[in-house]
Amino acid sequence: MKFDAVILGSGLGGLQCAYILAKSGMKVCVVEKNGIAGGCLQSFRRKGEVFDTGFHYVGALGKGQILEKLFSYFSLMDLPWRQLDTEGFDQIFFGGKSYLLRNGFENFAEGLSEHFPSSAKQIKAYSAFLKEVGSKITDPLLKPGNGIFSVNEFLGKNAWEYLESNIEDPLLRNILSGNSLKLELRKETLPLYTFAQINSSYIQSAWRLEGGGSLIADSLVSSIRKMGGEVYMSSEAVEIAEKDGKADYVLIKHGKEPERIYSDIFISNLSPQLTLSLLKESKCVRPVFRHRIQKLEQTYGFFTVNIRLKEGKIPYRNRNYYCYAEGLDSVWDISEMAEKGLAKGMLISETVPKGPDKRWATNIDILVPMAFSQVSKWEGTTPSSRPQDYKEFKARKAEEFIAMADGCIPGLKEAVQTYYTSTPLTYQHYTGAINGTAYGIRKDCNNLLKTLLAPKTPIPNLFFTGQNLNLHGVLGVSITSLLTCSDILGKEPLVSFLE
Ligand SMILES: Cc1cc2nc3c(=O)[nH]c(=O)nc-3n(C[C@H](O)[C@H](O)[C@H](O)COP(=O)(O)OP(=O)(O)OC[C@H]3O[C@@H](n4cnc5c(N)ncnc54)[C@H](O)[C@@H]3O)c2cc1C
Repeated sequence: MKFDAVILGSGLGGLQCAYILAKSGMKVCVVEKNGIAGGCLQSFRRKGEVFDTGFHYVGALGKGQILEKLFSYFSLMDLPWRQLDTEGFDQIFFGGKSYLLRNGFENFAEGLSEHFPSSAKQIKAYSAFLKEVGSKITDPLLKPGNGIFSVNEFLGKNAWEYLESNIEDPLLRNILSGNSLKLELRKETLPLYTFAQINSSYIQSAWRLEGGGSLIADSLVSSIRKMGGEVYMSSEAVEIAEKDGKADYVLIKHGKEPERIYSDIFISNLSPQLTLSLLKESKCVRPVFRHRIQKLEQTYGFFTVNIRLKEGKIPYRNRNYYCYAEGLDSVWDISEMAEKGLAKGMLISETVPKGPDKRWATNIDILVPMAFSQVSKWEGTTPSSRPQDYKEFKARKAEEFIAMADGCIPGLKEAVQTYYTSTPLTYQHYTGAINGTAYGIRKDCNNLLKTLLAPKTPIPNLFFTGQNLNLHGVLGVSITSLLTCSDILGKEPLVSFLE
């Protein structure tokens, strides 16, 4: 079998690349190891209720904003998007008080200035800075050159140092960073651009999807098929074979007999480490490149508790909660604490209730950063063979986290009907993410040349895509999909809709 382009993995990045190439007239084929498409976007169903895994909310989906432009292109704007409360899309619980973050750069600054009047000028300048970064987000697509490396001056700067030198009040720094568990807050490494770009997009507007993240994947799969593309589920890529200095075919395992799929172009949505492990014999990939990729570190993973609530007990609030433990000095210590097995902060997100009556929450997800070292001793097991002590660990953690969440949502503990849990091991099993990493490879502002990857690989017809390259999250991955396809199709057809 021969295609114009074969895409390994049906995460958001893989599906978007397939969509773009199919739209340009190429005959594409996506191969996915799981029975469900979407990678981190997968939702799961228990007793009729839908729960999300690696997708809770997105930013910048308002009319004319960057994700809206991208999702219009991907025909995703007809999905049931629900905007979060513009006067408080995120609520930060820190140091015994809570703070609402508002949408709109001026509104955001005004809201926080009410809590921190003596810092009003600094808040205004911070907000203006985020606005500027947000407006530059399409730069890597519009500029010639090597993608993200040409983006702007903020990439090589350190996010923590920026905050420390521009915001004097330590409490205010915590609140401004308080909803940033959707990136890995690490003082030494986090690039200012990652921090500013993500926060900027959510301040523009914040949205949930009624029905779960799988709707995005299902819609993309259906569009790809309508354009004549193939999406093979339960088809694990086990080898990429090279011939005459190019990738020749991918060997997939589905059914009993492995099958070769030939193609002119290959895009890997798998982690770069996993991709290289599929290139068993390669003349193009030198050991030094393999070594560099294998050495890259991963961001943390999550322990998640998906809770089904008793009816009519917890009011549905159209916002997310970020809760931090009493006595925590800095939310920037969370990732270091996760390494030590300490859980000091969490994101709590309610699912949009089904039907017109939105008064009561039906499901709540709790997400707590967790280092892989916490679960690595069970790595040799699979979901069907996890031992008793792993199950006990999960139950213990779930109870601990529900009790902590009860401090922000009074009555939560009593309102729990049932719950399901997952750990970084679960994510590793279902998405192939190394160590169950939530945000892929750790980008290091001190070492951009090593930690930011370009879509091009040493094999001229093999490309990377997805969150491991430069930006994570739904917006970051969508931009990366365009960058990957720009390297294949040239920039013109892609940027025309953004200009
Ligand atoms: C707990 C959690 C919460 C998150 N919350 C949000 C959020 O609220 N908002 C947001 O914007 N982002 C969020 N993110 C991040 C976001 O989900 C990811 O950045 C994004 O979905 C990653 O997409 P991807 O295309 O890079 O890859 P992935 O989703 O990792 O997809 C990779 C795909 O490759 C497949 N695969 C692996 N190996 C093989 C193989 N050998 N053969 C074939 N297929 C294979 C996998 O099964 C998977 O489908 C969250 C992530 C996590 C983990």
